[in-house]
Amino acid sequence: MANAEDNLLDWLRDAHAMEQQAETMLQKTASRLENYPTLKARLESHIDETREQARLVKSCIDRRGAGTSAMKDAAAKVAATAQGLSGLFVSDEVVKASMASYTFEHMEIASYRSLIAAAEAVGDGETARICGQILQQEESMAAFLAEQLPQVTRQFLQRSETPGATAKH
Ligand code: MG
Ligand code: FE
Repeated sequence: MANAEDNLLDWLRDAHAMEQQAETMLQKTASRLENYPTLKARLESHIDETREQARLVKSCIDRRGAGTSAMKDAAAKVAATAQGLSGLFVSDEVVKASMASYTFEHMEIASYRSLIAAAEAVGDGETARICGQILQQEESMAAFLAEQLPQVTRQFLQRSETPGATAKH
């Protein structure tokens, strides 16, 4: 039977793998975008935030006395590669990528909300504080994407009807 401490550690490892996956996905998407500078810039600034988040989550894992699971991180990188590649050849790439990013941020929000409760349950105030800080960044990114999604969709539709313009990315 796993206790609360074991669960917290396991979920922190999941979160670390999730951030590794986020970095790969964000990088792939941002590097492909040419005609959506607002979206590209915000994705790039979230890459920096994501790297710091991974570092912070790792610090929680180390403080609780265990190294990260190499297996989980490796699996996450493979998954991210597959997801990144699957979006490359669709004609509405920017719309699909925006939707995928919006979905991913909400998965992160759910993870950190759960982690905060788990950290509080075992009296790990530092982990709860760090996860709360990361949660704010994920919520801010999700809010940006919520606002950006209709705008990107309209721009995509408009560019699709403009001769000589590239709409997809
Ligand atoms: Mg994140
Ligand atoms: Fe994020």
